[in-house]
Amino acid sequence: MIDMHCHLDLYKDPQKVILQCKEQNFYILSVTTTPKAWHGTKALAQDCERIRTSLGLHPQLAHERYHEVDLFDELISQAKYVGEIGLDGSKEYTQYQDVQTRVFNHILSTVEKSGGRIMSIHSRGAVDLVLDCLANYQDAGIPILHWFTGTKTQLKRAISMGCWFSVGPAMLATEKGKSLVKKMPNDRVLTETDGPFAKLNRKSIMPWDVQKATFQLSEVWQLKPEQTDVVLISNLKNLLRKNM
Ligand code: MN
Repeated sequence: MIDMHCHLDLYKDPQKVILQCKEQNFYILSVTTTPKAWHGTKALAQDCERIRTSLGLHPQLAHERYHEVDLFDELISQAKYVGEIGLDGSKEYTQYQDVQTRVFNHILSTVEKSGGRIMSIHSRGAVDLVLDCLANYQDAGIPILHWFTGTKTQLKRAISMGCWFSVGPAMLATEKGKSLVKKMPNDRVLTETDGPFAKLNRKSIMPWDVQKATFQLSEVWQLKPEQTDVVLISNLKNLLRKNM
């Protein structure tokens, strides 16, 4: 199973969660929300080949942590993956749009100069702005839009720009989410949880709950769950092959 967007470091007992993921041979992209969290989060999974840590600066923290872009620049050479980065246009954060955009552009420019990376990107309420920024940094690597909540027109644009998508149980539980996933190219879709932020049955979702997304995807794709697993694993391998 694959969890392409999980905040392992934010669980109450990350070691316990990681142990269980290791036993089940999970592939996980362990995303971070600030550059300061990079070393500690990476250390959590130091002996797990299948858990990869990504260097990020979450858009909801950009107004408090913009000065950490210098640390981001310092650490980029150590990081093979980038995320969580992006923009958040929801009500509480529109007042910080300028600083968010400055931070996001700075990061994209650093990533581009460093040869590009696989990037896990937040775009809630800001899909067009995120895509505008990405269009200016076409050599920044491969964007994975996580938990995409835009319109069908925005989705079309994202697909035409080469974006990938990671989708989780919460997104696949809604009709809107399902209809978006139907329009995504099957060979650019991966599963995610966004745990512990996302909830399942009112509890923080765990990486292994990603299995629910696999079942939901099977319905959308009209495949057997084991066939869906084959598609997802082959997608992950194709993606990793593109990472320089
Ligand atoms: Mn997240």
